Amino acid sequence: TKWVYSFGDGKAEGASDMRNLLGGKGANLAEMANLGLPVPPGFTITTEVCTHYYKNGESYPDGLTDAVNAALAEVGRITGRGFGDGKAPLLVSVRSGARASMPGMMDTVLNLGLNDETVRALATDAQDERFAWDSYRRFITMYSSVVLGVEHHLFEEALEDYKERKDYHLDTELSAQDWQALIETFKRIVDKERGAPFPQDPQEQLWGAIGAVFGSWMTPRAIKYRELNAIPAEWGTAVNVQAMVFGNMGETSATGVAFTRNPSTGEKALYGEFLINAQGEDVVAGIRTPQDITEAARAASNSDKPSMEKAMPEAFAELVRIYGVLETHYRDMQDLEFTVEKGKLWMLQTRNGKRTARAALRIACDLVDEGVIAEEEAVTRVEPQALDQLLHPMIDPAAERDIIATGLPASPGAASGAIVFSSDAAEAAKKAGRKVILVRVETSPEDIHGMHAAEGILTTRGGMTSHAAVVARGMGKPCVSGAGSIRVDYKAATMTVMGRVFKEGEVITLDGGNGQVLAGEIAMLQPELSGDFGKLMGWADNLRRLKVRANAETERDAQMARNFGAEGIGLCRTEHMFFDAERIIAMREMILSDDEHGRRAALAKLLPMQRDDFTRLFAIMSGLPVTIRLLDPPLHEFLPHGDAEINDVARSLDVSPEKIRRRAAELHEVNPMLGFRGVRLAVAYPEIAEMQARAIFEAAIAAGKETGAKVSPEVMIPLVMSQPELDTVKARIEAVAEAVMGESGERIDYQIGTMIELPRAALRAGEIAASAEFFSFGTNDLTQTTLGISRDDAASFLGTYVQQGLLEHDPFVTIDQDGVGELVALAAERGRATRPDIKLGICGEHGGDPASIAFCEKQRLDYVSCSPYRVPIARLAAAQAAL
Ligand code: ADP
Ligand code: MG
Ligand code: MG
Repeated sequence: TKWVYSFGDGKAEGASDMRNLLGGKGANLAEMANLGLPVPPGFTITTEVCTHYYKNGESYPDGLTDAVNAALAEVGRITGRGFGDGKAPLLVSVRSGARASMPGMMDTVLNLGLNDETVRALATDAQDERFAWDSYRRFITMYSSVVLGVEHHLFEEALEDYKERKDYHLDTELSAQDWQALIETFKRIVDKERGAPFPQDPQEQLWGAIGAVFGSWMTPRAIKYRELNAIPAEWGTAVNVQAMVFGNMGETSATGVAFTRNPSTGEKALYGEFLINAQGEDVVAGIRTPQDITEAARAASNSDKPSMEKAMPEAFAELVRIYGVLETHYRDMQDLEFTVEKGKLWMLQTRNGKRTARAALRIACDLVDEGVIAEEEAVTRVEPQALDQLLHPMIDPAAERDIIATGLPASPGAASGAIVFSSDAAEAAKKAGRKVILVRVETSPEDIHGMHAAEGILTTRGGMTSHAAVVARGMGKPCVSGAGSIRVDYKAATMTVMGRVFKEGEVITLDGGNGQVLAGEIAMLQPELSGDFGKLMGWADNLRRLKVRANAETERDAQMARNFGAEGIGLCRTEHMFFDAERIIAMREMILSDDEHGRRAALAKLLPMQRDDFTRLFAIMSGLPVTIRLLDPPLHEFLPHGDAEINDVARSLDVSPEKIRRRAAELHEVNPMLGFRGVRLAVAYPEIAEMQARAIFEAAIAAGKETGAKVSPEVMIPLVMSQPELDTVKARIEAVAEAVMGESGERIDYQIGTMIELPRAALRAGEIAASAEFFSFGTNDLTQTTLGISRDDAASFLGTYVQQGLLEHDPFVTIDQDGVGELVALAAERGRATRPDIKLGICGEHGGDPASIAFCEKQRLDYVSCSPYRVPIARLAAAQAAL
């Protein structure tokens, strides 16, 4: 086996496609050398050595020492130096580098090979005493803290003491003699801490550093990071050993980092920072303020320190040339590290640069314009999930923030509004044209109307999957949940935090991106849906096969969905239409009725309201398909809770509070999720389904007249488990359709279909398809019923399962392909066997999850449906899945 790969002098044994073996850093150093770029020579010890090391009781493979020595000799030949040489010593850096860049790994050690003898040779050779001793003290502190585990602050304190004694302020004031004296102190610190002197033998130093890199692969920090990012331990890390170049050789030397394009805006302009007379780590360490690279950036930042363009025009010109070479070669924005030694530029690293969503869009579009990549490839360059950043208003980064509390960033976006403490107050304010933030200890289904009316939601209790968080994300509204330092007093209508009292009506701002609650109104930037965004989405639309619909029931959401490019509504949850103040009374009246007659009377009040809802929805979607789900949740969700509410309802319905309590007790269920809900309601109380069907069909006729576009409603029956069950309800709906057509003399094109959300329905899909014209996979419930996990109760153990690798990911976020997915595949197959043109879609959280969308594409479903704000994400993910 070949354990070591050399690079330098215009060639390399490795290349960028050998990332798995050489790690990202090593592979790209090799690639740059192959491109003839100025890279200090060096070599990479492969990730296989790391794997061997851990498989064999932390020992190295035979032949590694020889291979390293040979490679080191080659570096010496190229540089004209020798490792440990007393006249022209070769110094190296030792750098870790895994396949994926990984914080938690060993820090780089620079200037390795220095000792009491070679430091003098370096001084003579460079004709610079100060430089040599400065390098040596850097090496001792780095090596001691990174490899030997001596705490860094001990050296810092010694340095501070020394400066104080000498009345120095800056490190640059220290002379060669000063550093020499300090080095003695540093060595004493090491001796005391380690019980052994600082290693003088360069070979011992080198193997110490190599061992430290491999050792860092198994530190708790690295293990944790791999766990969170799904990086397997078998990958291992590589070690790069590379000849030093010196940015600390005076005013003509420097070190810096640069992006070939602006990583936050995507603008095509070299962007970065550098420091004169410094070594690599100084730029990030923030010891001195770095300088701008280009003159334009310096002018923009109003800095009085010269740019690299001005101070080192030749090295700058070389950097510009190289960045062109690298961008052309990698066909993407690069993140570079470089060092200038006495005017000569050296490249130390390149990789595809991290960027914001905005920059990713701009760069992808620009690269297409520049003829570098094709439209298909541009579509793959933007992470669908990242679009979320762009779809919400955000707080102007330049604005001042008066932070009053921080909770969980439960739903992205930002909003300002006056504080209200109840959903009714939110709704009243909205009607009066005021913007409000709904502040609650926590929310429940009865707050839906208030949440709809509010600009944003703040709760003091509850996590990322609390009711407030889930509903707000679905609505695309900013939400900060669990802001526990805030105390809400509903009676006094105030909230108090750290002694500050905020009254109802006072304006606050929420930042759902980071969980901050801010005092006052703050300037916002609105999302930009045209320009690069529109262009890239257009390319995505041309490439995708899957249609994308939205889950929406309000006008606002439907409008939003269309703005975001939805091609219809895949799920309209009619129950959301019944929570509003006026309707819930009729709804409660219906539930509390003793018989069908009473129920029909109450339903008659709901009919015109429901018809209105649908008419407006159809009008907004003008001709696009709209799937309406019949009433699904258990009825008791609509009943009042608590004495005050019960008394209110009793008064308005003119019944006794006792009766309401009794009825509520009757409706109580041990396990409502598997209880009296879905199609079971329609079977027991067909008049509810009939009212809804009538509202749908009458609305279809009305909206058709209004817009001139033909409306084809899809009536969806939830929680079906068998064909006869579906047929029972279907017959009622068809009868209503006939009646409405008879009354109006108009034809209505409609379909009746079902949700597949029970395993039995998936298994019997062949029969069910004989009666259903479409299936919509309700994968939220199908996941609950297949895994036997209640979503609302999963929080207590799901995390442990994911951590222990018993589940790959949260099955409510990304579809469980092996289990739930198999049921979907099976139902699709059986459904198609009965009815080849059956329409298949998916609704629920998975409809907006890129990995689940890829699965839907594989199953050749017709569409996915997701919350309006996820529509663009789904469009892009669908395109990527189709490629
Ligand atoms: P990281 O992965 O944390 O960026 P690196 O291995 O890239 O760590 O090294 C950190 C810094 O050390 C780099 O910015 C680079 O400037 C500097 N460095 C690494 N190797 C050398 C070298 N051979 N000569 C000069 N500077 C180096
Ligand atoms: Mg680096
Ligand atoms: Mg369901």
